[in-house]
Amino acid sequence: MRRFAHVSPDSVAAATAALREARAAPVGGGSDLLGMIKDNLVAPDRLVRLTELSGLDAVASQGDGGVRIGGMITLSALSRHPVIGERYAVLADAAGSVGTPQIRNTGTLAGNLTQRPWCWYFRQGFPCYKHGGSRCFSRTGENQFNAILGGGPSYIVHPSDTAPALVALDAQIHIVGDTGDRWLPIREFFVLPSEDVTRENILRPGEIVTELELPPHTGTHSAYTKVTDREAWTHAVVSTAVVLTLDGDGVCRSAGVVLGGVAPIPWRVEPVERLLVGQRMTPELAAAAGAAAVEGARALARNRYKIALVSETLRRSLLSLA
Ligand SMILES: Cc1cc2nc3c(=O)[nH]c(=O)nc-3n(C[C@H](O)[C@H](O)[C@H](O)COP(=O)(O)OP(=O)(O)OC[C@H]3O[C@@H](n4cnc5c(N)ncnc54)[C@H](O)[C@@H]3O)c2cc1C
Repeated sequence: MRRFAHVSPDSVAAATAALREARAAPVGGGSDLLGMIKDNLVAPDRLVRLTELSGLDAVASQGDGGVRIGGMITLSALSRHPVIGERYAVLADAAGSVGTPQIRNTGTLAGNLTQRPWCWYFRQGFPCYKHGGSRCFSRTGENQFNAILGGGPSYIVHPSDTAPALVALDAQIHIVGDTGDRWLPIREFFVLPSEDVTRENILRPGEIVTELELPPHTGTHSAYTKVTDREAWTHAVVSTAVVLTLDGDGVCRSAGVVLGGVAPIPWRVEPVERLLVGQRMTPELAAAAGAAAVEGARALARNRYKIALVSETLRRSLLSLA
């Protein structure tokens, strides 16, 4: 393994200053980054550890009923937090579904959102677009787990479990860099390969994710459903994040519906959201929503099964929530 320096700044300003160095990289729990270093996929000279930054590992209730979550909170702490479990079950479920207890005990929320793709061509160092090459090997190769929506020229799927939940919840994300900071809707954070094939999000070199904010969600029903090819230790083959506000008569007043494991970004399905609003859930409506979610999906040679799988997963999730 290549040698690198390791620094633990105690303030966000010190962290962004440390990241000014060429070949410096931020690190949370290291559950993704250290594997990439060991496999010679990246070679930073300096790791800037963010887990010592005080106050960025907690959940704080806001005056308006929303919550602010530090980006350095571990996935375990997030999944077990009483306020998150009670008001934002979709996020608690998503965080609790990641990998294994060991990964959740070290992995951070910010690291989960910014982890690199797990397409096996990328992880094995093939000269694909993500490594600066000029092709996507999964387009014609082993593409069982690749994208059916929003792909091209790269067909990676976004690997994060918490990202679909946060998009469905309409979260805001806080980004800090050397030249300032900004809050933006998390749905604007992710980048399609057709916009820039080399990256998965809008972070510029030296910028870090520090916090997330969730709007008030009293009265919502939400759930994250993850389908995997084995019981644990793995990313979603497909997943659905659903957030519904139902009135006293069970009529849907607002809906957030986002698919995971099927596209290079968390895939929000606005036609499904529009279909649900103003309606009371029925088996027919849930089936129509499942079908609408995959309109326009284009399978690669080996992943046609994902179309039916995500459609059916969404149908079941909607029925169980209502
Ligand atoms: C066996 C295994 C199974 C896994 N299963 C899943 C799974 O089921 N679901 C899932 O979603 N993930 C999974 N992962 C991926 C991932 O390791 C974890 O999700 C974890 O949350 C990553 O967080 P971390 O803090 O360890 O990230 P790190 O490894 O520290 O960092 C990941 C990346 O994000 C960057 N980064 C870290 N923090 C910040 C920040 N604050 N701002 C900007 N950039 C930052 C790093 O530079 C690096 O590029 C798995 C990983 C392994 C090894």
